[in-house]
Amino acid sequence: MDEFHYVSYAQEVIFGAGSLSRLSEAVERSGWRRLMLVTNRSLRESGHVTLVEGILGDCIVATFETVHPHVPDVQVDEALALAIENQVDAILGLGGGSPIGMAKATAFLLEEKRTGRPTRAASPMDQPRVPVIAIPTTYAGSEMTPVYGITHTRETPPRKVTVSDPKITPKLALYDPQLTLDLPAEMTASTGINALAHCIEALYSTTRNPLSTAAATNGVRHISRALLRCYAQGGNLEARTEMLIGSHLAGLALASVSMGLHHGLCHVLGGTANVPHGIANSILLPHVMRFNAEATAVQLAPAAEAMGLSVSGLSPVMVVDDAASRIFDLVGQMSLPQRLRDTGVKEADLAGIAQLAFQNRTVQNNPRPITNAAQIEKLLREAW
Ligand code: NAD
Repeated sequence: MDEFHYVSYAQEVIFGAGSLSRLSEAVERSGWRRLMLVTNRSLRESGHVTLVEGILGDCIVATFETVHPHVPDVQVDEALALAIENQVDAILGLGGGSPIGMAKATAFLLEEKRTGRPTRAASPMDQPRVPVIAIPTTYAGSEMTPVYGITHTRETPPRKVTVSDPKITPKLALYDPQLTLDLPAEMTASTGINALAHCIEALYSTTRNPLSTAAATNGVRHISRALLRCYAQGGNLEARTEMLIGSHLAGLALASVSMGLHHGLCHVLGGTANVPHGIANSILLPHVMRFNAEATAVQLAPAAEAMGLSVSGLSPVMVVDDAASRIFDLVGQMSLPQRLRDTGVKEADLAGIAQLAFQNRTVQNNPRPITNAAQIEKLLREAW
């Protein structure tokens, strides 16, 4: 890593138990007056939406609260129409990666509508006209990144694509671990593995840099200490806080590097076979780590150490194998599915999924070159 290039973003990050009480001051300071709240039903049911409404009062001029997983394009159209109708000046995503992705997509497209020009940043310093505020309640990490995923539902099969641009990065990320105390055990487990996967793919990314490596290594350390405790005792504020620090670091690492085969495949499985993102992550991560081991073992050594694995006397590839086994066991301990067949994916569909994945840009950024779809199909069969 003697040469590197990355973009870091002008963002305000507020972290801490009870920090939701600082939201209205931060919104006022930034001069945002007409917010659209984007979220989903379980956040309404848990009372979190009411809490935010109570804090922001009349500042919230519209609410879109039925975001579906994988951000379907038809819903983005609906949210965009609502934002235009209510002349919003900022969009607040509250919840997991789906509402935050929806907030990003809507803000990005709203700017295009208003200016009549593509929103694309001419330089990394360009700022969005419609900023995003993100309040995460899972460990997906989208609040830190310049990317959103959207599913083109009118295609057969539906296809999830990612859009990247500096202007997409949320301007304010507010983390309050208290909002995660009621995150269900399965969502805790699967989005926690998603955060771990961000660290793993950041460590061996072809565009890694010293910041992403430092963030990812520490992310693995926090997640390894906290995830199982959060799964077993959801109400443990200390564990929830440590886990959220881990997912923040994972998101920070993710924000400045390109992901590889693992993330590309998870997007294809999400958009095409509707596998929840965290579940796809949990099943595939050990398989992709082994697939990439020859090319990436040296970069993954710090992750193995941060997981508390003993590395002395082992070759780098053996260390990766141990780390992959540890993650496979962790997924099992948290009662998540460990095989693709358990998610409803049919064996007959694997060749088609591999073909789609082969054309995926993120897959093509993998550190071990992917030269044909058969390599991916073999991996998918092992995971099936
Ligand atoms: P999600 O946002 O789809 O949420 C899953 C479920 O968890 C929903 O039913 C939601 O209501 C529920 N939930 C969330 N917080 C809760 C809470 N505190 N209490 C009770 N229920 C709660 O799932 P996710 O895994 O967070 O996000 C996945 C999506 O995010 C995918 O579309 C993925 O591609 C995207 N993503 C994007 C990035 C990025 O950088 N752009 C990073 C990671 C994931």
